[in-house]
Amino acid sequence: MRLVCISDTHNRHDALRLPRGDVLIHAGDFTGMGRVQEVEAFARWFGAQSHPHKIVVAGNHDWLFERDHTQARALLARHCPTAHYLQDNGVDIAGVRFWGSPWTPLFLNWAFNLKRGQPLAAKWALIPADTQVLITHGPPLGVLDLTRHGLNVGCEELAAALEKRLRPRVHVFGHIHEGYGTYERNGTQFVNASSCTEFYEPTNVPVVIDC
Ligand SMILES: [Zn+2]
Repeated sequence: MRLVCISDTHNRHDALRLPRGDVLIHAGDFTGMGRVQEVEAFARWFGAQSHPHKIVVAGNHDWLFERDHTQARALLARHCPTAHYLQDNGVDIAGVRFWGSPWTPLFLNWAFNLKRGQPLAAKWALIPADTQVLITHGPPLGVLDLTRHGLNVGCEELAAALEKRLRPRVHVFGHIHEGYGTYERNGTQFVNASSCTEFYEPTNVPVVIDC
């Protein structure tokens, strides 16, 4: 199964050239402010892509999915009926178990922000142990999460869950644009798929993973 991973497109999806693959994964932040028109434009573009399976999670910019979940889901369903929107739930595609979640540690009170510690740990506790492809908007602490200010800002509770209980084959995220790239550890391929650079230029190529 070939995964094509993108994230943090921030309304610049038209600039991307997507390779072919079986599952197109967007790990969140497809908008700038999560407005209706932004969600609609993204949904149209996502719907026009040829990949047979599509998965999307929301990011901290995608406000409509938090403020008016019903409207957001309806827009996505109208323009991209085959997309699986994952928010603390999973989907099986061709026998591969995917799970998606939008939460990131509190930062200036954006969408889907939670305090570090127990509130985030509770969300990660929902992830089934047999998850094979994990999609979160943000990285775990210490993995492709280094900002230009030299700080590792990933979620320590997510790192702990991966250490103790989860062993996905692939973990896709974005959020920290500067962390774009891949890294393998303990049998997990980590992918920071941020399509936009730290300067919000959509120049990072989609990451292709065969799993
Ligand atoms: Zn972003």
